[in-house]
Amino acid sequence: MGAVTGWQEVGDRVWVRRYDPFDVNVTVVAGDEKVLLVDVRTTLREARELREHLLELPVPAVTHLAYTHAHLDHCLGAGAFPDLPIWGTVGCREALARHGIDQRERWLERLDEDERPHLRASPIIPPDRTVRDRHRLGLGGREVDLLFLGRGHTDHDLVVHVPDAAVVVAGDLLEVGAPPQFGDAYPFQWPATLSAVAGLDAEVVVPGHGAVADAGEVTRQRSELAHLASLCREALGGVRGRETVFTGSPYPRETTELALQRAAATH
Ligand SMILES: [Zn+2]
Repeated sequence: MGAVTGWQEVGDRVWVRRYDPFDVNVTVVAGDEKVLLVDVRTTLREARELREHLLELPVPAVTHLAYTHAHLDHCLGAGAFPDLPIWGTVGCREALARHGIDQRERWLERLDEDERPHLRASPIIPPDRTVRDRHRLGLGGREVDLLFLGRGHTDHDLVVHVPDAAVVVAGDLLEVGAPPQFGDAYPFQWPATLSAVAGLDAEVVVPGHGAVADAGEVTRQRSELAHLASLCREALGGVRGRETVFTGSPYPRETTELALQRAAATH
């Protein structure tokens, strides 16, 4: 475990840091009075390390948390930041409340053995401040928009837009250095949601995992997802054979298989 990078200031008073395991990003947005932390790593122990790293930044203590979505690598460290308001979409709240405990059991095998007790000890804390479509959060001298732009990586991805810095935190709607994750995805709706992300006209886009990207990367991934969606649509409609989806897909076979399953389940 540990940092893949140090803090990187990607826009005025917006910092990103990449962490293993999972090469996951956390983002800090500071206003004059308040500080928002977006995503909190996978376990209480990891989040305590994050809390130490936050002391390196020239900002006051974190006052608000936000989860991009309910997958545990983004939200299970919240117990290290007790008593702070936590923002997330309505769907994120439901997903954690209903499936958080099951999900935590399933995640155990993804972690190194010595980290597993820390995952078990990490409390599942659903957001207590929910966003249906949009909420404008004042941080003192600057405002950020918390947005639900449609289904994609999950049915509840939160996008954080910092207009005055032209930065967007996209969560796993955008994945850099690895294929998109389709386990809970909506393959037919994901492209339109990324179009909405592109419509925010950000210069810097923070993916859920991997290196910070630009608007061009959003458009590129939108095109790939749209291409895969059209292959899936034709396969499900009997216009083409299943095997041609794999040969035409921009992603590895395992990823494509999952996308096809989810396409069948959600179309
Ligand atoms: Zn995810």
